[in-house]
Amino acid sequence: MTRRLLLAAAASLFASPASAGALTDAIRGDMPQLMTLYRDLHTNPELSMQEVRTPAKLAADARKLGFTVTEKVGKTGVVAVMKNGPGPVLLIRADMDGLPVVEQTGLPFASKVRAVARSGVETGVMHACGHDTHMTSWLGTARRLAAMKDQWSGTLVMILQPGEETGEGAKAMLDDGLFTRFPKPDHVLAFHDAAAIPAGVIGVTPGYALANVDSVDITVRGVGGHGAYPQTTRDPIVLASRIVTTLQTLVSRENDPANPAVVTVGSFQAGAKHNIISDEAKLQLTVRSYKPEVRKLLLDGIRRIARGEAIAAGVPEDRMPIVTTRDGEYTPATFNTEAFSNRALALFAENFGAQRVMKTPAVMGGEDFGRFWLADNKIQSLIFWVGGTPLKDYQAAGGDASKLPSLHSPFWAPEADTVISTAIEALTLASLDVLKKG
Ligand SMILES: [Zn+2]
Ligand SMILES: [Zn+2]
Repeated sequence: MTRRLLLAAAASLFASPASAGALTDAIRGDMPQLMTLYRDLHTNPELSMQEVRTPAKLAADARKLGFTVTEKVGKTGVVAVMKNGPGPVLLIRADMDGLPVVEQTGLPFASKVRAVARSGVETGVMHACGHDTHMTSWLGTARRLAAMKDQWSGTLVMILQPGEETGEGAKAMLDDGLFTRFPKPDHVLAFHDAAAIPAGVIGVTPGYALANVDSVDITVRGVGGHGAYPQTTRDPIVLASRIVTTLQTLVSRENDPANPAVVTVGSFQAGAKHNIISDEAKLQLTVRSYKPEVRKLLLDGIRRIARGEAIAAGVPEDRMPIVTTRDGEYTPATFNTEAFSNRALALFAENFGAQRVMKTPAVMGGEDFGRFWLADNKIQSLIFWVGGTPLKDYQAAGGDASKLPSLHSPFWAPEADTVISTAIEALTLASLDVLKKG
């Protein structure tokens, strides 16, 4: 849907004959309690892989609903299983971590939490990515599905994942036996709140939805000396500048334009004083792609360009640039399998009305949800978006998301009740569809 169409549709959003079924009513009844949980989670965010209070609280809630709950899976993850007769195994995932961001929303339940980030620096902590809406919807969905056990058959594996923001949590849970110690899913499902679409609108992206994310460091080494005598040096700032410029040709000249790719130099640090040519410059890059062959083209190209430009600059062999890929921080691309995506699109449109459901374009952001599908690509996998930006703000901005707070902004304040009630309904409907009684 184009922005103009979306704006027009958004205007009639709540005038639509949205389903007023038993499920919608039941969720409405759950909402006061769920919003109390949401505000509590929002006020008490925890940093990646340091989630302690959050999983303990939600594990207790899931136990009360009749789930068999295992804690500390993948360090701080939770696995809640409900076996309910023969049928498929469906995994539903919510992520738990907040971000090292000082909240500036001004909400009465804004976070004042401070913690020491991995960098060793003390920082504010905020649910600036909306993972608090994910967890609240996770519990709301668990509650609905537990109450509707007579309407489905199969096994439900509901997981709370740590460390999404650092790209570690899904891997940590898989490495800790998520698919071997617990029933192995044949469907995996999740949602993420979204800033670029109005509250209550659902976006589904069949195929590649989010990118491969690689972090690369380049240490450019030169030969330092006096700024007045450049002929006695090999200036790493000039060389690093050339490397930055030549890197632009990877996407513009070497990559097939039909395949999305990004090479961004986000940090360039060198030198200390006007008249000193330093002996080192440091570059930090984020490198994004969908397909494995594009990822390889970019990473190989970065090494080749760094070395090639150093040779051109006359840098001695033993001072060639050092290119390091941070493999521990790699997040693989997220792929939404066609069958599950298209089924969900049809199901959501039928339930919410076509004006509240859109096919959204893929983005170059990252998510480690894709790891569950990568662990076994026979699995049907889907992560969909639920818009969180209040409709009036969206309309005031003319549908231009760049004028609105984005995810990770200290001002990100989604219309939480709309996100949560929409997400619970969508997750529950998709679950009932997967776990249909034979
Ligand atoms: Zn995030
Ligand atoms: Zn997130």
